[in-house]
Amino acid sequence: MGNAAVTFDRYLRYQELTDALHAFNEKYPDFVTLASVGKSYEGRDIWAVTLTNSRSGLPAEKPGMYVDGNIHAGEVTGSMAALHLIDYLLSRYGADEMVTKLLDSRSFYILPRINPDGAELYLTSPAHLRSSVRPFPDFRKYEDPPGLHAEDFDGNGLILSMRIRDDARGAWKVDPEDARLMTERSPLDTAGPFYHIYTEGVLKDAKGEWVEEVLPPFAHVATKYGLDLNRNFPSGFSTQTTGAGPYPLSEPETRCQVEFISQRPNIAGVLLYHTTGGMLFRPHSTIPDKDFAEEDVALYTAIGKLGENATGYPVICCYGDSSSGVLDDWCFDQLGLLAFTPELWDAVGRAAPEMKADFLKSPEKIDRRKLELKLLQWNDRELTGEGFVPWHKVTHPQFGAVEVGGWKVKEYRQNPPRHLLHAECHRMTAFAIGYALALPEVHIDEVKVSPLGENLYSVHAVVSNHGFLSTNITKQAVKQKAVRPDLVRLELPKGMELLNCEHQYEVGHLEGYAAGQKAWFYYVFPPQKGTVRVKWNVRVKGELANPELTVHLLSQRGGSKRAVVLLGDGGLRHEGTDNSAVDTV
Ligand SMILES: [Zn+2]
Repeated sequence: MGNAAVTFDRYLRYQELTDALHAFNEKYPDFVTLASVGKSYEGRDIWAVTLTNSRSGLPAEKPGMYVDGNIHAGEVTGSMAALHLIDYLLSRYGADEMVTKLLDSRSFYILPRINPDGAELYLTSPAHLRSSVRPFPDFRKYEDPPGLHAEDFDGNGLILSMRIRDDARGAWKVDPEDARLMTERSPLDTAGPFYHIYTEGVLKDAKGEWVEEVLPPFAHVATKYGLDLNRNFPSGFSTQTTGAGPYPLSEPETRCQVEFISQRPNIAGVLLYHTTGGMLFRPHSTIPDKDFAEEDVALYTAIGKLGENATGYPVICCYGDSSSGVLDDWCFDQLGLLAFTPELWDAVGRAAPEMKADFLKSPEKIDRRKLELKLLQWNDRELTGEGFVPWHKVTHPQFGAVEVGGWKVKEYRQNPPRHLLHAECHRMTAFAIGYALALPEVHIDEVKVSPLGENLYSVHAVVSNHGFLSTNITKQAVKQKAVRPDLVRLELPKGMELLNCEHQYEVGHLEGYAAGQKAWFYYVFPPQKGTVRVKWNVRVKGELANPELTVHLLSQRGGSKRAVVLLGDGGLRHEGTDNSAVDTV
């Protein structure tokens, strides 16, 4: 099933992605709101899809699930997985119980391509770039950095590797087991041939001109695309982190994300789609787990378990790695949201599943040669050799006779080959659905009016959270004052008044059923504080034109509900979402 608008067997360019989103919007007007939420550095619209059943309430009245993708230029699987989530939810509404419940009770905010400029360059040229196309540091606007510039000088549409024979100084040799693989030369290797290996490219000096006569070895690959948008966020930001940018949120794309999330206080879950590696990263890169509440770390484990089961990819805390200033860190640190950064596509896991665990634990300790041999065997076995371009002789404009060859990185190592793309998207959608089902979900379970005496009544309401997570999501959110207490409010018709009580109660944060699972290990089960009963005394004074009383339940992250009760018949008449008071608290 699915929509004809998108087939998940190739990577969409910007215009195709834009058209697909408009097509969803036209086909499902009651479910899809499409908006441009900002402009990229080059002026492309950054699209956001808001997905919910609008007949069951406005997006802001429901707990929100935020999903974005493709902040890194080449991680185009992220865009496709985000589109897959849209397609999956829309095409299964009404036929699939889980999906129907989700679109009735939650809002999805999906931004499939945060970095449309970088992705477009990646998809339409041989260029490999990390993230933004804005030159960084700034002086690179004016001159190319000196050194080797990656370039498809033989014009086959790919930037591969380039090997140059140098029997005296070459650091690499042809692997004895597989001639495609280049292996480190040992000091015991005294007889060549030996090679230098470089990225396919040409040398430029500081003024951007070609250097006529240079002998290798030479400088590292130089790029003017030095920015990494996912190092530009405020939590843990450091200009010492590679690509971080000049200051936090210096870029239009990252500002757009932070504003979008900040302007939607109902967002209760966050997934940020990346590639590659087959793992689910979670915060924090600079703050250790022990500095966060134990309960929050346990919740990360619980939601992470859903992800591990759906994707087969393990959760990895990124503390201590070099990735500070990332968006999931900010979401958790500042907002107390359980943000994950799934790294989709797992060539290593496909080719050498037995090496995957060690590879994730300490990639620097892995036997790289063994792994690369396994990858080549996988290429032969499952990809009919498509993923690797054999070494072949080419004349280089500066170095003369060289050989070019290597992996087609874009669609085999950094992203899945096309025939595996759909499955990769599907497993991520399964995680997103599980996570969205775990969000808090408040209800007014009961409203009762009982007569107390002449013109006197008491009104009882029972409110609760039917979700897994509590309405604050984490202790961190409370500490950062990122989430308001849940409120229950009584609205009286003209001609009625309250007796010795306030019209609204702050009831704290309604716990989800996760709280009831906490003490399992010790066989001690503390009561959940997920259900609250509130009571008002009211008096009729004078003419009562309309005997309707309304109870409002307002939860920032758990949704907003209203229930109407009639003075005469005493019971709950109707429960629905509440748009009257979302922003008036
Ligand atoms: Zn990434």
